[in-house]
This record gives sequence, C-alpha cells and structure tokens, in this order.
Amino acid sequence: MTALEDCRIAEVECKSVLNKSALADYTVNCYAGCEHGCRYCYARFATRFSHPGDPWGNFVDVKVNAPQVLAREVRRKRLGTVFISSVCDGWQPVEASYQLTRQCLEILLHYGYRLTILTRSTLAGRDLDLLSSKASVDFGVTITGLDENLHRLIEPRSASPIKRLALLEEARRRGVRTYAFLGPLLPYLSEIEGSLVPLLKAFKDAGVDYFYVDRLNPRFGVWPSVKNLLQEHFPHLTQEYRKILFDERVRREYSQQIVSTVNRLARKQGLDGKMRLCF
Ligand code: SF4
Repeated sequence: MTALEDCRIAEVECKSVLNKSALADYTVNCYAGCEHGCRYCYARFATRFSHPGDPWGNFVDVKVNAPQVLAREVRRKRLGTVFISSVCDGWQPVEASYQLTRQCLEILLHYGYRLTILTRSTLAGRDLDLLSSKASVDFGVTITGLDENLHRLIEPRSASPIKRLALLEEARRRGVRTYAFLGPLLPYLSEIEGSLVPLLKAFKDAGVDYFYVDRLNPRFGVWPSVKNLLQEHFPHLTQEYRKILFDERVRREYSQQIVSTVNRLARKQGLDGKMRLCF
C-alpha cells in the first residue's frame, strides 16, 4: 500500500470487471473508492464491506488486473452497452499513472461495445484520441453549478466546473456526442435560478446533445455526509434538507417544482427536448 497525500492507494486483483448494471447492460469500474470525495456521492455503498468506517475519498483500491480480466470477459459475454464508471470516477487522479480505464476503453471499442462515459475529471481529455468521431460513444461530464466556492465544498478534489465545460466542448469539437449531468441538484444551493440560468446557458454554448437532471437522494451514507456539510457551512438549511429528503409529501412537491423550473429555464435557452430526468 502506498500513500498519496491523504488518500491511501492499494493495489488489488479483481475477478470480474464487466459487470451487469441497472444503468446500462454493464459497468466497468477499474477502481473501488474515489479520490474526488464528493460530499453527496452515492457510490459509498460499493465499499461498505471492504472499507467499513473509512472516510469516503480517503482510499482507492486499484484493480491492477482489470484490463486482463476484461480482455477475457469480452470474448465470452454478450455485446451490449457499457457505463463508465458507476461507483468511481474512472479518470480520478490515480488513473494518470495506472491508465487502467484507458486500456479498458481500447478493449471495449475494439470489440464494438457501445459506451456511455461520465466523469468529473479533465484527465478524460487524454483519451479523446480513442473516442474521436466514434458513433458508439456518449461522453458526459457532471456539473452541478458554476459557483467555484460551492464546488470546492461539495466536490473538493474534482476539476472545476469551467474546466469540465471546456472538456465537453473539446469532446464535441472532436466529433463525440456529448451530454451534461446536472446533479444532484442541492436544494437552496444549486437549484436556484441564479445558478441554473448560467449553467443551462453554458450547456447550450457547449453544444450538448442532451442533459440529465437528478435530485439529491438519501442513499447509503449520503445523508450523514451532507448533514455534516450543512451543519458546518449552511446550518440554517439542515432542517429543510431533512424534510426534502425524508418527508414523502414534501419530496414529491419539491421534485415537481424543480422539474418545472428546469424545464422552463431550459426552454428559454432553446434546450427544448434535451432534458432527461433521472427520477
Ligand atoms: S466523482 Fe463520482 S464516484 Fe467519485 S466521489 Fe464524486 S460522485 Fe463519487
């Protein structure tokens, strides 16, 4: 095991890497854990048994044999769609040296799998040479807002929103179909009009083919992390969040309201028909 800053990096071997998923036919995750350490991250559940009690963002298991395992699996599994990555960011900083996601991309593209990519890292720009002009690829970045101060609080180690937008534009210039993932929207922080209007305009300017909208979900480990963030920086919002997450009636009304707000603002930007809901 080696230590990079405050994140523990361990090399492990995996038995399988092309795994069935609800997001696509398969997902590929070359890492367990994620250096980005987003405060609202749902992926914590994936390491609840292997890293019980370890703070999210402070460990990464590197599946060093992932490309070799994948090369075997693609020969015997049915061709399909692959989502990269579902429980880590495939282009988190450790990927710069291991290049496992890149090797897996090469294999999947060679065998004709259809790929949907989602990242918060500009390192993915390194691999645009593989993706350029491929009709079988959708390339997306998550952007929850353009406010750099909020970004540093909620997604402390990922690329800035402006750099992610630049990555989307670069992908489009290189002939890749692109999308933005707007979520999770944080009540009173990132779903306000003052935040959404410039962001939707930025999506339009970046020429995205479509964008997803997601709300904050109280999945495994999310609420304790978000609650700590709120108590530290926005204590007046803690009770409001609790209601939006856990009171069914409030949650339903809140969800209807954000769908209608984003729809209205998207129409104003000429993004009609490009919104896809995750809930
Ligand atoms: S980049 Fe994705 S997987 Fe990584 S911490 Fe953030 S939300 Fe979780």
